[in-house]
Amino acid sequence: MAPSVLISAAELQSAVRRLAGEISAAYEDGVVLVAVLKGSIPFMADMLRAMTVVPLVDFMSISSYAPGSGRVRIIKDIDVDVSGRDVVIVEDIVDTGLTLTYLRGELLRRDARSVAACTLLDRTVRRIVPTPVEFVGFTIDDHYVLGYGLDYAERYRNLDRVITGDLAVLQNDPDAYVEILYTG
Ligand code: 5GP
Repeated sequence: MAPSVLISAAELQSAVRRLAGEISAAYEDGVVLVAVLKGSIPFMADMLRAMTVVPLVDFMSISSYAPGSGRVRIIKDIDVDVSGRDVVIVEDIVDTGLTLTYLRGELLRRDARSVAACTLLDRTVRRIVPTPVEFVGFTIDDHYVLGYGLDYAERYRNLDRVITGDLAVLQNDPDAYVEILYTG
């Protein structure tokens, strides 16, 4: 099955501008944006440039102990001291909610004044841990998605749109969509 476009580049940019406006309005006194690597890089970069407040920016990288284990750990930590500060976690997609729940708990443990979440994509149908998501770009159905930061085996992150992919096809050949997507 050929991949199809779920969210176009124009739709992404308009949602990013809306979210940048919402966050700028909610945090006039400043905010720390913590982007979760690597999937949120294009989203974070575009959103930053549309914000009208001056945020502190930092990055965190986390990994699962084992797929499906439900346990995650920090691979790369932030340098900013979040104590007494308002923090927004910036995610590419919230799926089960495990990553976000872990990160929120971790930042609150470090005495952040508040911790909110901003995600480009919210796949609520797969949620295991109920978790609030204050700023949402798009709520999507149960599709596996690629592009605009989201990868399969490090491919497809640099697409300007979000597409749906067939996991069985990608497992068989991670490059399956490369030719069709990158050469038109
Ligand atoms: P959660 O902890 O909410 O289950 O998972 C969030 C992370 O899983 C995301 O930040 C992302 O890295 C990865 N992920 C979840 N769903 C997808 C998907 O449909 N496509 C891709 N490429 N990554 C996904």
